[in-house]
Amino acid sequence: MAGYLSEADFVMVEEGFSTRDLLEQLTLGASQSTTEEVAAFFVADLGAVVRKHFCFLKCLPRVRPFYAVKCNSSPGVLKVLAELGLGFSCANKAEMELVQHIGVLASKIIYANPCKQIAHIKYAAKHGVRLLSFDNEMELAKVVKSHPSAKMVLCIATDDSHSRSRLSLTFGVSLQSCRHLLEDAKRNHVEVVGVSFHIGSGCPDPQAYAQSIADARLVFEMGAELGHRMHILDLGGGFPGVEGAKVRFEEISSVVSSALDLYFPEGCGVDILAKLGRYYVTSAFTLAASIIAKKEVLLEQPGREEENGSAPKTILYQLGEGEYGIFNSVLFDNTCPTPILQKKPSMEQPLYSSSLWGPVVDGCDCIAEGLWLPQLHVGDWLVFENMGAYTVGMGSLLGGAQTCRITYAMSRVAWEALRGQLLPAEQDEDAEGTCKPLSCGWEITDTLCMGPVFTPASII
Ligand code: PLP
Repeated sequence: MAGYLSEADFVMVEEGFSTRDLLEQLTLGASQSTTEEVAAFFVADLGAVVRKHFCFLKCLPRVRPFYAVKCNSSPGVLKVLAELGLGFSCANKAEMELVQHIGVLASKIIYANPCKQIAHIKYAAKHGVRLLSFDNEMELAKVVKSHPSAKMVLCIATDDSHSRSRLSLTFGVSLQSCRHLLEDAKRNHVEVVGVSFHIGSGCPDPQAYAQSIADARLVFEMGAELGHRMHILDLGGGFPGVEGAKVRFEEISSVVSSALDLYFPEGCGVDILAKLGRYYVTSAFTLAASIIAKKEVLLEQPGREEENGSAPKTILYQLGEGEYGIFNSVLFDNTCPTPILQKKPSMEQPLYSSSLWGPVVDGCDCIAEGLWLPQLHVGDWLVFENMGAYTVGMGSLLGGAQTCRITYAMSRVAWEALRGQLLPAEQDEDAEGTCKPLSCGWEITDTLCMGPVFTPASII
């Protein structure tokens, strides 16, 4: 153990007790508290992060994972990933400071934002962060001036036209412009040591990775012709963070492995990295949010009456968090958060057309619409799974402070696995060859299920 994470940083979850039980306890405590009013909080299963890491190593053994700090910079996540030996990909000075503050060496940090503030480049130079990325002449000129000993990674554009969240408008240079940039770097005595790309998030076609790896090979050849000694290939992020993703991680990694074998075969001397964000943290975080207000609204549908003769109505529930904060994925990623009810409703309970809203009283702060829920009350808790990516610890990017409390938990088995850096034999593989959970929480507690998941199937 390198000592980034200690038992004091999280709640140790013993066998038979799950993060779900912990969440129940915490909601009870929050509801009974007379001193502070808590509207929302997270439970973070650090064991889920450990499990993801072992899956990654198993599926892509040739790739060295870095973590994209912007995705979730909460201390528990950074510490567990540092403990697992990951490097860190930082977008600005605040993120570099954050990871250096927990003791991560500068040699394990990439300043991977192609658009950098000069003061932040100077910070990198002063604090020994030497690997930086670029995709245009202007950035190169800034680095030449402020960080002459930097080693640069050239970001190339990808075809991300099918990705849910696209990056190529602001990230990466076209293949046609690469030679020009490589020549410019050579003229200015800047070392270009590698190529990176990012296929965007929610990409439905794993072949996008294969195409970008092939493109990177061409850029390596261009670089070699011009005398650059390139030895780093960075595959970026975009790997899915949830089990039910359209394209599974295992599917992507098999396409990536084949492309690497073809274009960057074992022994070619190229260090292969990836900068993953959502893959590591999405499923580890569960949010509990309480209903802070509710309102019944008549649906204006002339001539339509409910069975009992009254006009149809819908119920608006307001939560303490909304689209302008933790639920920003509704806006940016088109997600549809589905709540789990804490109390399981009986079969006889009627369901009502319902929607969930954030605290900002405008028409845009809608978290979910078209739900059918039993009658809920102010103070009831709703639970949302898979809430770890781009929800917490984004203060460094958005200039705001993160206020939502996080309780970190980890099962003893995950803690032991982390300490030994070994996937326990019994967790290794199931019959289908997929990684099993390092049981800490939700996965083992189907029978303790808090209530029905209102899946999109129940959305009108
Ligand atoms: N690398 C770069 C350059 C990024 O901009 C991002 C996120 O936007 C990531 C990696 C991480 O992406 P993801 O969370 O999809 O893995």
